[in-house]
Amino acid sequence: MEGYTKIQNLKGFYVSDNSLSCPHCNNLIVPILFNGIEFDWLLMKSANTLQNLIVQATCPNIDCRSCFLIVCEYATTCHDIPNVEEYLYQNPSVYFYLPFKKQPEELTPYLQVAEQRPFYKSFLKIYSQSYSAENYKLFEIAGMGFRKALEFLLKDYAIYLMPEQEEAIIKAALGNVININLKNFPTLVELAKRATWLGNDETHYLRRWEDKDISDLKRLIILTAHTIEQTEMIKQYLDEMPAPK
Ligand SMILES: [Zn+2]
Repeated sequence: MEGYTKIQNLKGFYVSDNSLSCPHCNNLIVPILFNGIEFDWLLMKSANTLQNLIVQATCPNIDCRSCFLIVCEYATTCHDIPNVEEYLYQNPSVYFYLPFKKQPEELTPYLQVAEQRPFYKSFLKIYSQSYSAENYKLFEIAGMGFRKALEFLLKDYAIYLMPEQEEAIIKAALGNVININLKNFPTLVELAKRATWLGNDETHYLRRWEDKDISDLKRLIILTAHTIEQTEMIKQYLDEMPAPK
C-alpha cells in the first residue's frame, strides 16, 4: 500500500509514512516501524473515542538509530481488497510523557494547612515546580525557583501579618521585609537571612557560600517555613485556650 507501512505483528494494520521530528536527534525523519499495540482511549476515560495505535519506532538516521514510541490515529478501514479488512492509521506523533513525580515530602505539613493559612499558596506552587526542575537535573533553574519560593513565603507571610502594608511589602527588597516586617520573630529573621544568602548564590554570578549547595538552600527554606508554622500554631492554641480568669 503506497505511502503506508505495515505494522509487523498486526494483521492488516498500516501507518502513513508521515515525517516527524526524532525525539533523540531532532531530525525530521520517517521512522522505521516495528510492532504495534491497539489502544482504546475509551478505556482511559478520554473524550477521544478513536482507536489509537502505539508503535515501536526507530530513527533511520545512521548517527542516531534511537528507539521511541509513536501514537497514530485511526483513519479508516480499507475495503478495496475483497475479503480483506485493512486498517489505516495516520498522523503519527512521538509518544511523549513526563515521569510521574509526587509532591516533595517536605511540603506535606504545609499542604495540610494550606486552606487555613493562605499565605502558603504561592510558596507551595513555586517550591513544587522548582522541585520538578531539580528532578529533571535543571539545577540552575531549580535554585532560582527555590529562591523565588522563599521570597513569596516571606512576603506573603508579612502581608498576612500586616495587610495594611501590602503595597509597601510587595515593592520592598526581601532583606528589608525580613529586617523590618518580620523583626518580632528573631529565629525566623536569622533563618530567613541565611536562606536568602544561599538563594542569592543561585541567582547571582558570584557564589559567596561555596561549601553550601541547593540542598542547604532547601533545608533552610523548610526550616523557615517550619518556624512560621510553629509561630502560627502557638498563636492558634493561645487564642483557642485563653488562661482562665
Ligand atoms: Zn534520531
